[in-house]
Amino acid sequence: MVILNLREIFKRRNRFTGFYRLSTKDVRLPADMGELTEPVDVFVEITKEKGGYRVYMKIEGSIILECSRCLSVFSKEMNISENIKIEPYPTRDMIQIKPKDLEVSFFEDEENFNLADLVREQIILSIPIKPLCDPECKGIPLQEETKGDHRFSALKKLLH
Ligand SMILES: [Zn+2]
Repeated sequence: MVILNLREIFKRRNRFTGFYRLSTKDVRLPADMGELTEPVDVFVEITKEKGGYRVYMKIEGSIILECSRCLSVFSKEMNISENIKIEPYPTRDMIQIKPKDLEVSFFEDEENFNLADLVREQIILSIPIKPLCDPECKGIPLQEETKGDHRFSALKKLLH
């Protein structure tokens, strides 16, 4: 667990950097998203900013995903670098929905900031909606493939 007391850290400085190795247990990636089999390396640089903090984050590791076409599992390198603004959860009278809010992440407790939450969020955002084992993946080989092929080549002949 990496818990940062941001209030305390930024009493004495305006910039904080750290390097962490988070275990798969720390990250707790939802099972239907993918699977981490080894720890992820995280570099963070945090600076204080009006209304919150700016976090530059680099995440390296690998993730096991399921191909959306052929359903095989494959390992994909993660090399994420993101700039995120983090702010305290807005109170009721502060809520304003603006498009730029999409890049903002919220934290509950400035003295108890769990870095793994932000790492998990960024990993989830980096996972493609339809992961592919290979951009050229042909999908599941059908049992009736030969039949299909014949029909297809017949069609091709007609077209020529
Ligand atoms: Zn595939």
